Amino acid sequence: MRLIRFGDSGREEPGVLLPDGRRVDASGEFHDYDEGFFASGGLEGLAEWVADGCPGGALIDPAARLGPPVNRPSKIVCVGKNYLDHAKEMGGEIPSEPVLFMKASSAWSGPHDDVIIPRGGTKMDYEVELALVIGRTASCIDELEAMDHVAGYSVFCDYSERSFQLETGGQWTKGKSADSFAPMGPWLVTGDEVTDPQKLRLWCKVNGELRQNSWTGDMMCSVRQLVAYISRFMTLLPGDVVATGTPAGVALGMSPPRYLQAGDFVECGIEDLGELAQRVVAHRET
Ligand code: ZN
Repeated sequence: MRLIRFGDSGREEPGVLLPDGRRVDASGEFHDYDEGFFASGGLEGLAEWVADGCPGGALIDPAARLGPPVNRPSKIVCVGKNYLDHAKEMGGEIPSEPVLFMKASSAWSGPHDDVIIPRGGTKMDYEVELALVIGRTASCIDELEAMDHVAGYSVFCDYSERSFQLETGGQWTKGKSADSFAPMGPWLVTGDEVTDPQKLRLWCKVNGELRQNSWTGDMMCSVRQLVAYISRFMTLLPGDVVATGTPAGVALGMSPPRYLQAGDFVECGIEDLGELAQRVVAHRET
């Protein structure tokens, strides 16, 4: 199944994208794709509703905005330097264990929303990543059970303001958390439709130019290993998002770096999962 959410930002309603391309409103049956939905077996209920032909579900206006495919999660856990070629381009040590950092959930954003250069930002960068959404609470689980805790997958861009990340001291959260810096979508593809999450091509283009072009088989720590590893340090709740790291080709890794500018167009895609497509815009005082 492909789960979508549609409507204005912060007021999205749940829906599904059917294999024939129709988008159907599921809000008559389901409140939202949030922690309670996943925790209470909502995915199974949704699958039954779809198998029954989506009774009572109207077609969604094709012009409707798509929001992120799940409600703003309790946390967004990111993995740093999980592709060797990217770890090398970033400089510094190659990590011996997964590097974890958090991204503020207020950065949550839709797949076609503008991405905003934060006030004072000068070094904005893109990072295409495979994201997974947790389907069942995971606390100190082992690798063999890890995949039972994954609801599905989506495309994520871990936007970063490198001057905040690397030039203001402390760790990385400051450079990762600006509004609009966590877009996910365009839909959540349920785990049963992804045969092997380590065999997906992923790419990022800026103004049509291919900047990142890799595949998830190059991760140093697999999805299975990451879910188990993260669950040793924190409880992953249903609906939480894990971004699994980015391959080489980010702006910072170029000589000289080619950071994003207002007006740039960023496309991030993953084989079988879809694409994000976003315009970079300058910060505006509100
Ligand atoms: Zn990242």
